Formats: sequence, structure tokens, C-alpha cells
Amino acid sequence: DTAVVWFRRDLRVRDQPTFLAARERAGRALGLFVLDPTLLEPAGPRRTAFLYRCLRALDDDLGGRLLVVKGDPADVVPKIAKALGAGSVHVAADFGPYGRQRDEAVEKALGDVEFVRSGSPYVTEPGSITKSDGDPYKVFTPFSREWAKRIGDATPADTDAKTLSWMDPSDKDGGPRAVKVPDDPKLDAELPEAGEKAAREQWEAFVDEHLTDYDEMRDRPDRPGTSRMSVHLKYGTVHPRTLLADARGNGKGPTSFRNEICFRDFYAHVLWWFPRSARENFDPKFASMKLDTGKDAQQRFARWQEGRTGYPAIDAAMRQLSGEAWMHNRMRMAVASFLVKDLHLPWWWGATHFMNLLVDGDLASNQHGWQWAAGTGTDAAPYFRVFNPVTQGERFDPQGDYVRRWVPELAGIEGKKVHQPWKADEPPTDYPEPMVDHKAERQEALDRFNAL
Ligand code: FAD
Repeated sequence: DTAVVWFRRDLRVRDQPTFLAARERAGRALGLFVLDPTLLEPAGPRRTAFLYRCLRALDDDLGGRLLVVKGDPADVVPKIAKALGAGSVHVAADFGPYGRQRDEAVEKALGDVEFVRSGSPYVTEPGSITKSDGDPYKVFTPFSREWAKRIGDATPADTDAKTLSWMDPSDKDGGPRAVKVPDDPKLDAELPEAGEKAAREQWEAFVDEHLTDYDEMRDRPDRPGTSRMSVHLKYGTVHPRTLLADARGNGKGPTSFRNEICFRDFYAHVLWWFPRSARENFDPKFASMKLDTGKDAQQRFARWQEGRTGYPAIDAAMRQLSGEAWMHNRMRMAVASFLVKDLHLPWWWGATHFMNLLVDGDLASNQHGWQWAAGTGTDAAPYFRVFNPVTQGERFDPQGDYVRRWVPELAGIEGKKVHQPWKADEPPTDYPEPMVDHKAERQEALDRFNAL
């Protein structure tokens, strides 16, 4: 018998529960990836290129035996299963709003062919952690206590490419046509190395060099103190179980790291319970908040996007996003606060810009990260806590190295003075003055909030 292993957000061979489930049912397996236009179109060139690179790496790991086809999964997956006479199709469950519907449609179209979900991209399946009365958690801390009780069960699955005997897709008779993984789209950013091996190497280097001090260094955008696992978690070139297995113990570093992995699960749970929160204020009170959306607002938005606000830390971060397709977490919070509370723009403008440029762009983490910063989300930052764009820079980039790396116009200003170039003896002429007065805009934000 043949089993189809349909890869989606799990582009790896290690720690793969789907392989174990397939092996129980069949002697050989077909590895499949479906290029689904519904998901590819909004992904943008950066995530598309990264995905293609992951697929080439996975194909190598399967000895060149990954079948890639194009089309609507509800159409092509059943056709492939039929062409092979397969008894089962194996996936890691998808909990996103689109993925859920797609999988239901595929399952229905498969008829008698078993559709087997094993595991998910998360430590805990979205929806599986509730309060004792069955209601969803809307606050992180109590959720995280329940989550912590479960992670002992999250043992990595012992698998590799040899767990299954992979059939040569060219032996398949009929069914949808195989395509080559397309060439990368044209890129304007430096992407991280893709694929499972790259994920593992990056992770091992982080564990060796930075995990112990993670709690202390995770807020420093000028240092390489975070794991950079977000993109690998997004594409499943590593599973969070594997990371948790290495980040054990009561040390401050591992404890703090586990907390961040828990945030990722939490936001996936929130999206599962409240799919509307990807598009609308989680807290409906904000529906009547006064926001700027006119022509002038669009011009302000463009300056934020380009990294020409005149606030060096904000500009460095926006340029890091353009150049590297990634931004440090501390700076994601700072630029989001600036967009919402200094520029009075809708958070979803910023969230969409992030989704267009981030290689780790992920609906659950991004939309809820934005809602947190905007004060509209689940246990969000209280609205009146407004980040000061200068102080954020001075605190978390204390020598100014991060700013000078990304804003070459300011490279001549030494030390932390770089955060207030307007105070320099000779302010650089090619760098803008602050586009808004933070103190005044902070008051404006509070006034609008108080008017609710
Ligand atoms: P590390 O500090 O090494 O953290 C380890 C892992 O924990 C991360 O890889 C990530 O999976 C998870 N994590 C850490 N912080 C958070 C968080 N606040 N929320 C959810 N998960 C977290 N993360 C994304 O993966 N995709 C996004 O599109 C995204 N958009 C964001 C938008 C805003 C406005 C904010 C404030 C945060 C956003 N985050 C997003 C969360 C966080 O900024 C990134 O996960 C982190 O910067 C990735 O770098 P890292 O892997 O080195 O993180």
C-alpha cells in the first residue's frame, strides 16, 4: 500500500509525526507539496523565495523524490491519491482560518481515502487549552501556566528521511502533472539560509552562544542575542518540540525562551477561537477610535515605511525590515507603537506592510503582535503606555551601533548621541528632522483614547 505524505508548514524530515503515522499504514510513501495559488499570491516575493528554497532542500533530503504539483488542493490531492491507489493522506493539522477550511474540503473530496492529521506546527494544538469551564483564555499568563503543564508531553518524534521508503514520483500513473520548484522571484532583500539543515545549524549556534543569556540580551537589537527561529518555525524546518527539548531547566535564559514559544502558541489559540481578530480590533471598544486615514496620513505612512521619520531607532528598524526581511522584536514593538500612537494610523496598515516584507510573516503572531502594540488586543499593552522613540533607542541600543548599521547618514555620530542627531554640533544634512513632536502626539493619542 502507498501513503501520501502531504507537506505544508512542516518542511523537514526530523521530528515528523506524520512519518510515523504513514509507516503504520503503508510500505511506501509519496512525498507531496502543492503550490496553492491562494496561499502563494499574498505571500510576496520574499516568503515565496524562502519557501522555494525550503522545498529544494526537502527534495534533496528525500533523494529527489518530492512531488510538486500546482493547483487547488481539494482538486489535486484526491487525484494523486487515486492515481496511486493510496489508502491514506498524512498531514500535520493546520489551524489557520484558510487551512482549516481547505483541509475540510480535501478530506471530503478524498472520500474513502483516510485523511490523517498528526501533530501541528505548535507545541499544543490551537483550541486544546481552555479554562476549566471550556472558555478560551484571553490573557496570556494563565494560559502560559496551563501550557507549561503540557510541555512535558512534547517529546520530539524520532524520524528522519529513512523512516519511510519514498516512491519515485515518476512511477505515478496519471493524475496532476509534476512541476519543478519554480525559480526564485526577484528579491530586494538578503534572506536567511533556508531548509532544515540551516535551521538546525542556526539553532545549535544559538544554544551554544546565546541561550543562557537570552533573558538579558533578547531586548538588544544591536546584538545577535535572539534565536532567529521565527522563519524556521513558520515553514516548519524545525518544530518547537525540538527547541523545547534543548531549552530545559530553570535557568533564566531557557525559561524566558520557553515563554516566547508559548506566546507563539497563545496567538495561534487566539486566532483559532477568534479568526476575526486577524482583521478587526479584538477589543470592540476601539471601533470608534478616531484614526487618520486621509492623504496626509498616507504620506506619513510612506515616511514610516521608508525609514525616514527622523527618529533614528525607528528608521533603523524600518530599514532592517526592508533590507533583511526581519526585524528585532523590541523594534517591532517600537515601530508599531510609533505608527499607532505617534502617527495615529490604523494598526492594520502597519500589519499589512509587515506581512508584505517579513520572511517570518505569520498571521497569528503578526496580527496579534500589532494588536498588542495598538492596545486593541488580548491583554494588550495598556493604551496609555506610549513608547518614547528616543528612550527606546537609548535603552536598547545603548552605544548606537544598531542605528549606525542601518542608517548610514548617521554613521558619523558617535555613541548614544546618534539617537538625537538634532542635538549634534553639526546635524547631518541628509537626514530628516523628526516628522512629529513625540510629546504632543503622545498627548493627542491619549486624548483620542479618553474620548472613547
Ligand atoms: P526569539 O526571541 O529567539 O524568540 C523565539 C521564538 O519565539 C520566535 O522565533 C517566535 O516563534 C516566538 N516569539 C517570540 N516573541 C514572540 C511574540 N511576541 N509573539 C509570538 N511569538 C513570539 N513573529 C513571527 O513569527 N511572525 C510575525 O509576523 C511577527 N510579527 C510581529 C509583529 C509585531 C508588531 C510584534 C510586536 C511581534 C511580531 N512577532 C512576529 C513576534 C516576534 O517579534 C518575532 O517572533 C521575533 O522577533 C522573531 O525573532 P527570533 O526568532 O530571533 O525570536
